Amino acid sequence: MEISFKGKTALVTGAGKGIGRTIAAELLKCGADVIALSRTQADLDSLKEEYPSMRTLCVDLSDWEKSRDAVTQLGQIDLLVNNAAIAICEPATDAKPEDFDAMMNINVKALLNVSQVIAKGLVEKGLPGSIVNISSQASMAALDGHVIYAATKGAIDSATRVMALEFGAKGIRVNSVNPTVITTAMSLVGWSDPAKKAWMTERIPLGRFGDPLEVAYPVLFLLSDKASMINGVCLPIDGGFTAC
Ligand code: NAP
Repeated sequence: MEISFKGKTALVTGAGKGIGRTIAAELLKCGADVIALSRTQADLDSLKEEYPSMRTLCVDLSDWEKSRDAVTQLGQIDLLVNNAAIAICEPATDAKPEDFDAMMNINVKALLNVSQVIAKGLVEKGLPGSIVNISSQASMAALDGHVIYAATKGAIDSATRVMALEFGAKGIRVNSVNPTVITTAMSLVGWSDPAKKAWMTERIPLGRFGDPLEVAYPVLFLLSDKASMINGVCLPIDGGFTAC
């Protein structure tokens, strides 16, 4: 099975680092015209150096109007990966309101904002599309210190199902993937402590954390026509963690 995105334009949010960067690179290799969106120009500059044909957009998704304008100006986007997110870990008793607002704003509100712009553009032209939201196993299982982050990812799973219903009727599929710990800068926030790492890896039947490519490949499949009847799923990529 080969996947080709020739003739398709893809937007990946949070593509400066980690999983988003890997997804953007793999989409490019499969022939898509890729726009990498992130908020740190230096990350986008290094992407451009590595992949000269990749287009980049520097915008902070926490600003609803600015990011909406910037994404609208991109024109038609066929494939969208809502990947940008932040993680702040703190115990439920001490979780701060400002952290709730910041995580909800980027992880959930910005996802809705970008999805609205892309879906409306496709619907106006009567074109099909595919959206993949990067959720987390934190939406499916209780993880110590993840109270707000988990709530944002639960919101993403719910939004995925509603968008799958509403956009699906217009030919736009919407799915999410729910990875376990993947080795990136973000995972250092919650999982660099050796005791925590051991606790988690012991509960993953495959016995290890994941690699960004192990998220990118299922995302590319869900974006592609090979997944043409898959809509509204939240797919664990967790080595079996949530099966146990
Ligand atoms: P990461 O290494 O921290 O990368 C996140 C990217 O998103 C960065 O380029 C970041 O830019 C960008 N970003 C954050 N806030 C933004 C904003 N307001 N506007 C524009 N860009 C913004 O994270 P990751 O580990 O690759 O995670 C990617 C996705 O996978 C997230 O949705 C995360 O919740 C999910 N996930 C990760 C894991 C894991 O273990 N890593 C597990 C499950 C799910 P800056 O660096 O400039 O802020």
